[in-house]
Amino acid sequence: MGAMHSVSETPHPAPGSLGHVLILLDYDGTITTRECNEVILQRFTGDAWRRLEDAVLAGTMSHAACFAQQIALVQASHSELVGAAVEAAEIAPGFERFARTLTAAGARLTVVSAGFREAIEAVWRRERLPVVPLVATEVRSALDGGPPHRVAFDALLGDCPTCGPGGCKAGVLRALRRHDDLVIVFGDGVSDLCMARAADVVFARGRLVQLCVAEGIACHHLADYHAALETVLELASPVIASVPER
Ligand SMILES: [Zn+2]
Repeated sequence: MGAMHSVSETPHPAPGSLGHVLILLDYDGTITTRECNEVILQRFTGDAWRRLEDAVLAGTMSHAACFAQQIALVQASHSELVGAAVEAAEIAPGFERFARTLTAAGARLTVVSAGFREAIEAVWRRERLPVVPLVATEVRSALDGGPPHRVAFDALLGDCPTCGPGGCKAGVLRALRRHDDLVIVFGDGVSDLCMARAADVVFARGRLVQLCVAEGIACHHLADYHAALETVLELASPVIASVPER
């Protein structure tokens, strides 16, 4: 990256001034431009993963159980699986500056993902993103690194009838939320809905937009992280936001 950034109108909040802001971000399809899990499932299982997806849409299987069964279909090795997840990941425009600006101002960003911890950490290093807490899934493979692969969801995820036992991201929100926090959730899919229900502010793209609309949850459309950063700063900085216009 060059030394000169184009000068942005985005205000730079004072260091520490956003300590009351908790931002929970889904990873796959929200921080990344593509659904990396879908890319790797298609590559390693053909269309077999889609049939399980249909059961989620029909409401007969939780998305957490579905993901576990999908990963169990993969016959590639652990390193092939994780490597493909890293390779498939392209970070959404503006995310690096979004994360850097907000963490520098003291906002507590946490990534909450059913994606693989190893893969996300490798992408974070590759992209030189600011270090933030990561709640993600471990892939446990056979001793030789081959199949069968199991997924172990992070213990911070909660139980819920929709998401299944130990698969609900809203558990993370409840664990991290402090009194008087402004809780902002970014997501794109059904696994983010429980977090969206409990958030103060939602940025949605993909299927989560329709799910929020269906439940009457107000959401901002997540187009890119340049616009999202400006909106977050407006919402999180009442002093700036309340300057009278006339
Ligand atoms: Zn849930």
